Amino acid sequence: MEDRQRFSFWICFQFVVLIYVLCMPRGTVAGEVVIVGGTEAQRRFISCVAEAAANELRRIPNADEPMTFVILEHRKFLEARDAFHAHGASLAFSNLTSSRVYLSSRVFVDLETAMWCIPHELGHFATQSLFEGHAELAAERIRWRTRQICGSASQ
Ligand SMILES: [Zn+2]
Repeated sequence: MEDRQRFSFWICFQFVVLIYVLCMPRGTVAGEVVIVGGTEAQRRFISCVAEAAANELRRIPNADEPMTFVILEHRKFLEARDAFHAHGASLAFSNLTSSRVYLSSRVFVDLETAMWCIPHELGHFATQSLFEGHAELAAERIRWRTRQICGSASQ
């Protein structure tokens, strides 16, 4: 390939990458929460739980950085779980350092499951702890607050 040709090929390639990045589904940005994937109703519910947890999360380091929720179809979730060595997780796991929560679409099978899983994961962030007992202490407060404010988002 001639230099000139190679150059235009490279520009073209860059352009394709740029278009791809711009067109990628970006989810909803709601305050400090970025949500990738899921349905409109699922994203609304997560936003509301995050709002309910705002008080708990304010104290943590990097509280000003956006927290990202990634909702994956269950088979993809299992692949991600294995890649992150989060072997015990059946429906959700979190990566505290990258502020990411990975959720299987099965978290939303019913309200009870969603109400258990999402506040639980946020409990890990609020306590900055990998221990289930610690996370649950904060999770209980987040669930209580979620029930107060997320009535319409939980339909
Ligand atoms: Zn946990």
